Amino acid sequence: MKLHKRLERVSSLIVSEPSEMKGNWSKVSHLKPIHLEIGCGKGRFICQTAEANPDIFYVAMEKAENVLVTAVETAFERKLSNVLFICGDAMLLNEYFAQGEVSRLYLNFSDPWPVNRHRNRRLTSETFLKTYSEILSSNAMLFLKTDNKSFFDFSLEELRNCSWRITNFTYDLHGSYNTDMQHDTQIKYNPIGGVVTEYEERFSSMGTPICRLEARPPL
Ligand code: SAH
Repeated sequence: MKLHKRLERVSSLIVSEPSEMKGNWSKVSHLKPIHLEIGCGKGRFICQTAEANPDIFYVAMEKAENVLVTAVETAFERKLSNVLFICGDAMLLNEYFAQGEVSRLYLNFSDPWPVNRHRNRRLTSETFLKTYSEILSSNAMLFLKTDNKSFFDFSLEELRNCSWRITNFTYDLHGSYNTDMQHDTQIKYNPIGGVVTEYEERFSSMGTPICRLEARPPL
């Protein structure tokens, strides 16, 4: 099936005019707390997390239509009623959400943009962090996972410089969990990190340690 046909079939789960939702999300979330994922890719994380947490309302944002469609199709087939999708760029988040409307933000395996002159495109660079703190509630949390150590160190530094409070971090999410089970050849995943994403599975199976942090926005 052509991409536009696939998108059309599941369009009930895609927010067509997200700017009209600004300040109005409670109408669709039915007052449940709103958790947002940026860059959901093919959506394993958001669909499994939404299925396991019916009392939370999820919004997943993804700029690439050709991967987003798979995420939306999964939610559609599973008849999930607590998740909606935005096809768009995180740069526009404060046009889509009002101040304090989001209580948790997930960044899973964001593009690391390794070249220094592209640092402003990293989803943890100062401008993005400012945007997040505008839409996040005061007791909100940011959860980030990545395979890329340089991006992780950059994120820790940028968060600290912008007065975010790092409440937890590790350079080896699953390794620290595996030490008790070295006799077991199967990869075990530390449940603290939540649902294992597509990228996480790929990098972990190649032996790359997964970095993870939790942070709170500035007071
Ligand atoms: N979270 C998934 C995919 C990681 S790849 C996983 O862990 O498996 C990173 C994804 O973020 C890509 O699909 C990319 O299109 C998306 N992305 C990158 N920058 C973005 C932005 N500014 N706004 C929205 N999505 C973005």
